[in-house]
Amino acid sequence: MNRASRPRLLLRRLHTVMAGSGSGQQRLDKVVVEIARNMVAEVCSVYLLRSNNWLELYATEGLKKKAVHKTGLKVGEGLVGLIAEHGIPLNLPEASEHPKFVYLPETGEEIFHSLMGVPIVRNGEVVGVLVVQNATQRHYTGEELEALQTVAMVLAELVGSGQLVKLEDLPSGQKKKQNQMALMGRKFADGLARGSIVFHEPKIEIVNLVAEDVGQEKRRLQDALLAMREQLDQMMSAADIRHKGEHHEIFEAYKMFAYDRGWQEKITEAINSGLTAEAAVERVLQNLRSQMAKTRDPYLKERLADLEDLSNRLIRIILGFSGAHAHHELVEDAIVVAKTMGPAELLDYKRRYLKGIVLQEGSSSAHVSIVARALSIPMIGRVGSDLDEISEGDPAIIDAEVGRVIIRPSKEAVKTYNSSLDVRRTLAAEYEAQKDLPSVTRDGISIELMMNAGLVIDLPNLEVVGASGIGLFRTEFQFMVSSTLPKMDVQTDLYSKVLDAAGDKPVIFRTLDIGGDKPVPFIAQDDEENPAMGWRAIRLLLDRPVLLRYQLRALLAAAEGRELNVMFPMVAELSEFIAARKIVDRELQRFDKLGKLAPLTVKVGCMLEVPSLAWQLEALLEEADFLSIGTNDLMQFFFASDRSNPRTCDRYDLLSPAVLGFLKGVADAAAKAGKPLTICGEMGGHPLEAMALLAVGVRRFSMAAPAIGPVRMLIRSINLEKLKTDMEPYLQTRDHSLRSWLENYAKENSFPV
Ligand code: PEP
Ligand code: MG
Repeated sequence: MNRASRPRLLLRRLHTVMAGSGSGQQRLDKVVVEIARNMVAEVCSVYLLRSNNWLELYATEGLKKKAVHKTGLKVGEGLVGLIAEHGIPLNLPEASEHPKFVYLPETGEEIFHSLMGVPIVRNGEVVGVLVVQNATQRHYTGEELEALQTVAMVLAELVGSGQLVKLEDLPSGQKKKQNQMALMGRKFADGLARGSIVFHEPKIEIVNLVAEDVGQEKRRLQDALLAMREQLDQMMSAADIRHKGEHHEIFEAYKMFAYDRGWQEKITEAINSGLTAEAAVERVLQNLRSQMAKTRDPYLKERLADLEDLSNRLIRIILGFSGAHAHHELVEDAIVVAKTMGPAELLDYKRRYLKGIVLQEGSSSAHVSIVARALSIPMIGRVGSDLDEISEGDPAIIDAEVGRVIIRPSKEAVKTYNSSLDVRRTLAAEYEAQKDLPSVTRDGISIELMMNAGLVIDLPNLEVVGASGIGLFRTEFQFMVSSTLPKMDVQTDLYSKVLDAAGDKPVIFRTLDIGGDKPVPFIAQDDEENPAMGWRAIRLLLDRPVLLRYQLRALLAAAEGRELNVMFPMVAELSEFIAARKIVDRELQRFDKLGKLAPLTVKVGCMLEVPSLAWQLEALLEEADFLSIGTNDLMQFFFASDRSNPRTCDRYDLLSPAVLGFLKGVADAAAKAGKPLTICGEMGGHPLEAMALLAVGVRRFSMAAPAIGPVRMLIRSINLEKLKTDMEPYLQTRDHSLRSWLENYAKENSFPV
């Protein structure tokens, strides 16, 4: 038998034993015999980790059988304990010379000199140790060590199947998974929810470990490597080759690994030892993980993360998963965990079962968060990267208010959840009781509270929260969830439904805000370095006026005989607004010419989302029928601070004197021109922020439906003229923010913020 075929033969034998009949123990007993025979070792033993860090002798060939399940070692004790403690292999011609050597008389091992042992690793944790021993002072070769590690990987699966050790008997990390743990992050969408964990991008389980045909596995690896390199090359040339930046470096590092001969050779060696291509990639990754486990060097840690990413990518390709997300079809109440997620991906999930979302990254004003708020799906972001101890299916509770996700909640935690739910229900009942009360301040100033919407399922909220209309209907949501351009009659149908649902309440439709961070499948976009400042919204619509014309036709048709309000997003200069308004006028004329029933009135408004427009405000207010401030975009451009970058999105405070002073100027100008002004960005939906906005002159808000109750309660409790006078001098402060002043003021006056 040649060298390469021996491990392969062993793997095949093990495969047969494992697939055969008998209890887990019986199979393990056969496994050790096979290993000893194949490796020409007098002894082969398996130690499995039990509770209290105890490594129990679970099966042996060559040591005294009566020691099985009777003897063992503590982690860290003896050579077996050392292997388990550090997760590293040992290869010793004379074991007794090792300072850690411990003699266990009950096993009769004194006659053995050489020892080779490897950790059995599952889910990144050591769950046991596999050892072979010989009576002679044998020097085991590197290949023999490799082979033993491969066998250990297969054994790990047997452990994982629960046939040997019951899950509740599993120790340390494996057992930790049974215990409650918490993840802390930021609230992106408020709410409380319970469900089971579902990974947005599930980790792929490798089920076939043993190769049927080694040649075939090598070809699978080669094909996948080629495909992966092609993917990386494409990513690089599309995104970054022109811009030598951070991205470029990341891709370079990736590429370095992707083309690394050493990595490829190691995977090939693992295939030679009898593993499938996917198992071989995992095996090499495992080795690297254990070698680097102790490193503190952040650079090396990052490289390991690169390699993890790359290995997973390669495994996906080998297994034929496309680059796209392997979305789960939700079948029960779920808390979906993702690194990041786009709004369209969120909308792909079955709403009925999607109870909460946990993002490792993200930001509160990113669109996915806006959608989550619109749909009242609690969402917590920025929980970080350490999700090792969470498994698919774990029960979880999300409490967005405090930014906490509890995994595997204890009975106590469930009790707390239930009582928090009661408190929320009471509060919701209070909001509900106030929903038809006028939103008027204590000194009699009437404030309009409208809601933001974008989907048909939002519409019943108009009544539920008692909104006075829809101040922002984001028409792009419909386009984002469709793989083809929605036909005109489909668009008309949606807009009619919205107007029907609103009855005599006003609706402001925003024309398509696509592009940038809201890509749609049917418009090819270049990869832009700064998509938020790129070819999006009105820019795209003016360059592709057909899209805008079709949308306007659908809106005009839907609004027949009723009031129609439209506004344009991301206008940066007056001439853009004028050009867009001309298109509306032309479509209206066409409509008249065709003898169709036109809307009763058509009002055309403009969003203020780009600061430059504020320098043409007076003229704009002559041209536009109304103004709506999109604070989400406006503020990122105001501060030049990316709204979806966790490092920058909270750096500046929207309650800064600069922002409030600026908004006061806009509100004053609108009031002078006699044109309605709305705040439709997220800022207005927070009671404290709303309080400041009221004080600078804002009288109309449009916000996510769930925010209306709390803001109405605030409005009904304040004396606005007094607040305005009291806040006025603080607009001149040189501090970073007025937040603490506002918080104190609210507290002193018992405002519910
Ligand atoms: C905004 O930018 O504030 C806004 C309302 O638009 P969107 O969040 O949809 O970009
Ligand atoms: Mg915007």
